[in-house]
Amino acid sequence: KVDVTDLKKNYGSNHVLKGINFKVKNNEVVVLIGPSGSGKSTLLRCLNKLEEPTSGSIIIDGHDISDPKTDIDKARENIGMVFQHFNLFNNLTVGENITLAPVELGKLEKEQAEFVAKNLLETVGLADKYDAMPASLSGGQKQRVAIARALAMKPDIMLFDEPTSALDPEMVGDVLEVMKELAKDGMTMVVVTHEMGFAKEVADRVVFMADGHVMEEGTPEEVFDNPQNERTKAFLDKVI
Ligand code: ATP
Ligand code: MG
Repeated sequence: KVDVTDLKKNYGSNHVLKGINFKVKNNEVVVLIGPSGSGKSTLLRCLNKLEEPTSGSIIIDGHDISDPKTDIDKARENIGMVFQHFNLFNNLTVGENITLAPVELGKLEKEQAEFVAKNLLETVGLADKYDAMPASLSGGQKQRVAIARALAMKPDIMLFDEPTSALDPEMVGDVLEVMKELAKDGMTMVVVTHEMGFAKEVADRVVFMADGHVMEEGTPEEVFDNPQNERTKAFLDKVI
């Protein structure tokens, strides 16, 4: 599904990704961990073409996203992204936030989009918030709206960049619960998170990045209970 080969990304003389090889299979949940500045967000942003790689290849569903012939807008429609800061449109209602992209991009008729939005809000436990303004929601509720909004595009894959790290502790569980349900439904997911409990429970594979390299990867049991790399050990000692 996702096949990243020898991906390099430099910002001037700052070599952030130094040859990343990274694969995600269909229906797989991959949790990406690593110290601050190791390049986790940069990798996600390259997958979504929010960043232009310096070199290397990124194949998503058979399309080379660096190939100028690939319609990047179309490719992006199939990739849902959820950020730490929800980025909702504060001047639009919750319902409008969710229906905007599918209607504007011609994926759904307005009525269909509204139906889908209501269903998705129910899924994320916010059935009564369709007409609410984002400002009236808690952080956890906003993040669940952001997830519903991404899902409205019917993405093939969801990328999450620290979706719970800006939330008050009591809000984290509800958001993780929604993500768990998504994983159970077979969504292909890449999740950057410091929530090791979530990683242990939900991840098929854990990938540890440091200094722009994938240092170690394996099942949660392999990486958490029996890390092989010294950097992984040092990192886990700090976070767990
Ligand atoms: P964190 O856990 O703190 O979110 P991260 O692993 O997501 O860290 P990145 O955000 O990918 O790390 O950043 C990796 C490096 O790239 C950092 O040194 C950062 O300063 C640099 N960097 C990221 N984005 C840019 C940018 N737009 N321009 C210049 N440098 C950048
Ligand atoms: Mg980051």
